[in-house]
Amino acid sequence: MSLLQLHSVAASYGASQALFGVDLEVAEGEAVAFMGRNGMGKTTTVKAICRMLPASGTLVFDGHDLTRLPAHRAARLGIGLVPEGRRCFRDLTVTENLTAAARPGPWEMVRVTELFPRLAERRGQQAASLSGGEQQMLAIGRALMTNPRLLILDEATEGLAPLVRQEIWSAIGRLKAETGMALLVIDKSLREMRAACDRGVVLARGRSVWTGGMDELSAEISERHLGV
Ligand code: ATP
Repeated sequence: MSLLQLHSVAASYGASQALFGVDLEVAEGEAVAFMGRNGMGKTTTVKAICRMLPASGTLVFDGHDLTRLPAHRAARLGIGLVPEGRRCFRDLTVTENLTAAARPGPWEMVRVTELFPRLAERRGQQAASLSGGEQQMLAIGRALMTNPRLLILDEATEGLAPLVRQEIWSAIGRLKAETGMALLVIDKSLREMRAACDRGVVLARGRSVWTGGMDELSAEISERHLGV
């Protein structure tokens, strides 16, 4: 059974409609790549899932109708978001950022800092003083501290140096291999997503236009919809 299920999802920013028919499923333990060119509606879909934007259609998480829930309840159900642009509490320390997000479960400080040892080294530092890569690790750590059943990563490697990007991908790989946490991944690197994800969904102008195994993603689809 699907953990997350979206069917015919539509959403608008005021009078401007951004989503017209998004179909997307993530099963328990599955990693799904959510793909499409810039502006096609990936982040908007994430906002709809996390109840940051009203949406219509079917949005179900773990049997709960998301359209009936306010944002804070969606998080409590077990949806963890690593938002585009990281958005940590800049004036709080690493430890404070992590503990502010904490909810009971296997993901505690010790486990997060084992995944990202650099966060342990920087634990007393304000988030604002961290490097971009460290802030990204903190953003992922914060989402993990909520003990989600589904982790959504929206451009988690954006703007990072290749070596740091590699560290983030390796952490994502560990999450998949060692925890069986369901993942929904948005990223510019198709190569990394092929390696990390089981299945993909391609979005074009607010509609799902393709879904399949990552090994079935043809050159034609990637050229037409992903520009690669
Ligand atoms: P990107 O990779 O550039 O973030 P995306 O696929 O995530 O692309 P969205 O950010 O979801 O795309 O944008 C989908 C559409 O909604 C675009 O046409 C965009 O201009 C529009 N849009 C996004 N945010 C807003 C907003 N706050 N107000 C109005 N329109 C918006």
